[in-house]
Amino acid sequence: MKLLFLGPQASGKGTQAEIVSKELGIPHISTGNLLRNAEGEIKEEIDSYINRGKLYPDEKMIEILKIRIDKKDCDYGFILDGFPRNINQANALDRITKIDKVIEIHISDEEAVKRLSNRVTCSKCGAIFNLISNPPKVEGVCDKCQGELKKRDDDEEGAIRERLEIYHRDTEPILDHYDSVKIDGEQSIKKVTEDVLKVLR
Ligand code: AMP
Repeated sequence: MKLLFLGPQASGKGTQAEIVSKELGIPHISTGNLLRNAEGEIKEEIDSYINRGKLYPDEKMIEILKIRIDKKDCDYGFILDGFPRNINQANALDRITKIDKVIEIHISDEEAVKRLSNRVTCSKCGAIFNLISNPPKVEGVCDKCQGELKKRDDDEEGAIRERLEIYHRDTEPILDHYDSVKIDGEQSIKKVTEDVLKVLR
């Protein structure tokens, strides 16, 4: 099954993609993580976009994604998280493959800002915690791999506002491009997972 999880920043799509990926045995592909984990010369260029909350140029992003979904582990499907971000990327994706289901995890801007300001991510395994709603057992330490928890550079006010603006302007319109199913992302993590799995079964 080839799935898209769409939604504003901090809607929980990364968390849900991780859970559902294990449930269905298909990889979770976050384009944000692909970019953050890039190595070599390209890293500095990528960081200059990410840290300002700007989108990495479409053509280069599409190329990176294509290489990833051509890998063997995607033979039986994947969950895309953070792609497509605009209609140009959606059209490019249509040319590469056929998506089976699109899920929108919806939260308000107010909730997004609240969550992003309290979000910490494991620098080793990428696990996401929220200092208020889903805190780690030990402050600053990942529950899963004991890696160091850090605030993302783009989770600061200016970049947060920029990213939400881009989401409303460029990403939201692509929900109409697909026959997407909307899920309330302001429920508990467990309830959102239940709703997502209900849609997929
Ligand atoms: P995310 O982890 O999805 O919040 O993405 C973090 C940052 O990575 C974004 O603000 C962009 O700078 C970049 N990024 C992630 N996905 C894409 C994409 N599909 N196209 C362009 N830039 C992206």
